[in-house]
Parts: sequence; C-alpha cells; structure tokens
Amino acid sequence: MREILGQKRAKKILESAISTGKIPHFFIFAGPGGTGKVSMAKEFAMALNCPNPGKPCRVCSTCLSIMNNNHPDVTIVSNDTIGIAQARNMRDIAVLSPISGRYRVFIVEEADRLTLQSANSLLKILEEPPPSTIFIFTVRDINNLLKTILSRAMVVPFSPVSKDIIFSILKENGCSDELAAKIGYFSQGNLEKAIEIFESGKSEEGLVPYGEIETLETADAVLDTISIWLRDLIIRLSGAEERFVILKSISQTRYINYSLEDLIDNFLFLEEIKRLEECNGDWKLAVALLYKELEVG
Ligand SMILES: [Zn+2]
Repeated sequence: MREILGQKRAKKILESAISTGKIPHFFIFAGPGGTGKVSMAKEFAMALNCPNPGKPCRVCSTCLSIMNNNHPDVTIVSNDTIGIAQARNMRDIAVLSPISGRYRVFIVEEADRLTLQSANSLLKILEEPPPSTIFIFTVRDINNLLKTILSRAMVVPFSPVSKDIIFSILKENGCSDELAAKIGYFSQGNLEKAIEIFESGKSEEGLVPYGEIETLETADAVLDTISIWLRDLIIRLSGAEERFVILKSISQTRYINYSLEDLIDNFLFLEEIKRLEECNGDWKLAVALLYKELEVG
C-alpha cells in the first residue's frame, strides 16, 4: 500500500491486517481533517479487492474503478447524505455478497456527525457484520461517537500532516517558499485547509489596518498573522537559526526592544482574544488593544 501524507502508523496497521488475513470488519480512521483518511480508506479497499500480486497494483480495472469512485462494491457515503433512510439502505445492501470484488466496503465520511437515529440503525450490522463486508468510518473526534459503536471497531489513528509534506505539496502547486512556510504554520497539519488558504489568496494579504478592526467578521486572520510575527520574533530573540524564521522578508527590527517575556505575554493575549470571541465577548476591543500594544496598524 502507498503511504498517504506520511501516515506510516495507519499504513502499517492496515498492511498487517491484510498480511495476517485477520481483517476486522469495522474500522474507525480517526484524526484531524485533511490528513488523508478517505484516500487511505480507498487505498485499503483497493488492496482488499485487487486480484494482482503486490496489491494494490493501481492498473487493473478493480483498482482503477475504486480510484475513480465507480466500483460497484465500494461505496463512499458522505455525512450529509446519511439520513435514516440511507442508513437503512446501507444496512440492507451490506448483507448482500459483493458483486465483483472480494469485499464490499463502505467508507462513511465524518461519521462522528451521524445522527443518533442513523447511528443506531447501523448498530446491529456493525455488531455482526457479514463476512465479506467492511465498514470504515472516518472521524475527526472519536469522543463524538457512541460508545457502543466505538467498542466494536478497530481504531486506526491519523496524525496531523507534517509541515514538510504540506510545504512540498504547496510548492508543487506553484506557491513561493515563504508563503508555503506561512501557510504550513497556519494550517496546523490539515492539508485541505492549507490548500484552501493558498487558493483563496488570503494569506498574502497584510494585516487589517487599525481603522478597519470594526469591520472584521472573525479574529482569525489578525490572530494568525500576529502569531506568526510573534513566533518569528521569539525565534530570533532566542538566537535560533534563521532557517526557522517563517517570514524572512519582514523586518522585525522595530520590535527589538521587546523582551522574551513581553512577546510571550502577547502570545497568551492572542489566546485570550480567541476565548473572548468564542464566548461572544468584546474581542474587537481586545484586538484594538493588541494593536496599540504592538504599535501596529
Ligand atoms: Zn489492482
């Protein structure tokens, strides 16, 4: 199997299930968004059904149709299409033998958002899955699943994607070094988010001017930009190598009078602003104070 987005551990668990022949019938792929859970699930479905040695071969009709989402036995179900009727339908199909492959595979995206009713209607089949049916639930937060569901599954953990991988994928898409480093930092291991930020072009915009704080809809962009400045300053002040600095082109000499403590205090202030925003506090006033403190805008 191919290693998707550096998910070594997940690949190892799945390969060992295949090589021992003891394949659990219900998996939960758990980890942050944009870490390759659905791609890995498709890779696994190919490995289970490909008739060739060295599976998945990626060239046979089985592999190709799974890759292109049109294999009759491999179904990808997205969360917003799963109502109670769809869950029951899935349950009814699951008991039928596969049409052309060895295994029937259901990949359920963001299963932690299933309604209680839908989850309950699947419970019975998850408790006793038919021998040639495999369920793969992808979830961001395992705590949102019913305990009764969780206890039936083999959990495969997915880690945030490393900054290096995100950096090189963005570079392949024509992103500059500095921007790729900046987006890699903002996206926190979520590749989908990284590509979204890059495509939106938002990360290239500078800090919103002081006079426009009132027009902000969320504090995110401001906090992201300032947190990267503070991060770089802390790195420079602590004498770490220049290669760890993200925004190399920005002159930070005017903050030279700040002490490490000041910078860390401001970092903590960013967290407080986030909390204020979450509880509908006056975060715009707090952002204005931060601007004054840092003499920006
Ligand atoms: Zn194949």
